[in-house]
Amino acid sequence: MRRKSYELVYSPVYDLSDCTDILAAGKYRMLYDELKHERWHWHEPQPVAEDVLHLVHSRSYLRDFLAAKVTPRTERAEIPLSARLVQAVRTATQGTILAAELALRHGVASNLSGGFHHAFADHAEGFCFLNDIVVAIRYLRQNRPGLKVAVIDLDVHQGNGTAHLLRGDDNAYTFSMHEKDNYPPKEKGDQDVDLPSFIGDKEYLRILDENLEILKKRFFPDLIFYVAGVDVYRDDMLGNLGLSFEGIAERDRRIRDFLPEVPMVVLPAGGYARNMRETAQLHAQTIRILHGRID
Ligand SMILES: [Zn+2]
Repeated sequence: MRRKSYELVYSPVYDLSDCTDILAAGKYRMLYDELKHERWHWHEPQPVAEDVLHLVHSRSYLRDFLAAKVTPRTERAEIPLSARLVQAVRTATQGTILAAELALRHGVASNLSGGFHHAFADHAEGFCFLNDIVVAIRYLRQNRPGLKVAVIDLDVHQGNGTAHLLRGDDNAYTFSMHEKDNYPPKEKGDQDVDLPSFIGDKEYLRILDENLEILKKRFFPDLIFYVAGVDVYRDDMLGNLGLSFEGIAERDRRIRDFLPEVPMVVLPAGGYARNMRETAQLHAQTIRILHGRID
């Protein structure tokens, strides 16, 4: 059985095209534009409630972040914080919760933003303010105690915030495959693969296959979060891997076919190609493949 569904989550609030000091801020809207003429079921999230954020983030950090205050805790995101950005990030975080609920009902669902895997409990980091992945996991567990969750993170950067937040959680498993000589300083997850720079499709896919086999033997989840960063693309400005469009499609097919009976949430995470349209096309390709809309 293969996952197949039409469930996508997007809000016009995700669109930060006019925030030109944020790298690739326009990609969420461009991704929506790629998909909007196709047949999908669209779901629009509201901003996440503050008490839900307390499941993960510290009160002192949330005081700074929600008021869009520039402090040592928020400025590590390295992008200018504004009320508008707070609204976008809160809405995207609720979007990930909504996508997770839809995935549990329909088999697969994608949020068109999210995958903020560098955010920690008490500080922002690497463009990420709220760890929407761990917020969604803790939120779901309120009604599903002991829900077993695997995070498959194939963004070119390690999911350091996610690994840190889920460490010691026996019902969570983090698998991250990322470029070794790149941001961030690595945190220990359950299964980490440091990739050499400049590797191409063939070598990447071979390592991925090996590691999916290992994951399969170690952990059987009730739900998978796929952090599907496309900054592994060879023309990305923040990554130095050599994957092509077709290589990334093949990567996504491997994930599509991995434990196909387990529900999956798909999140875009990073993607900073020199040509932003290519980033949007790559994210759209991931969604079409993971939803079984193209082969
Ligand atoms: Zn990244």
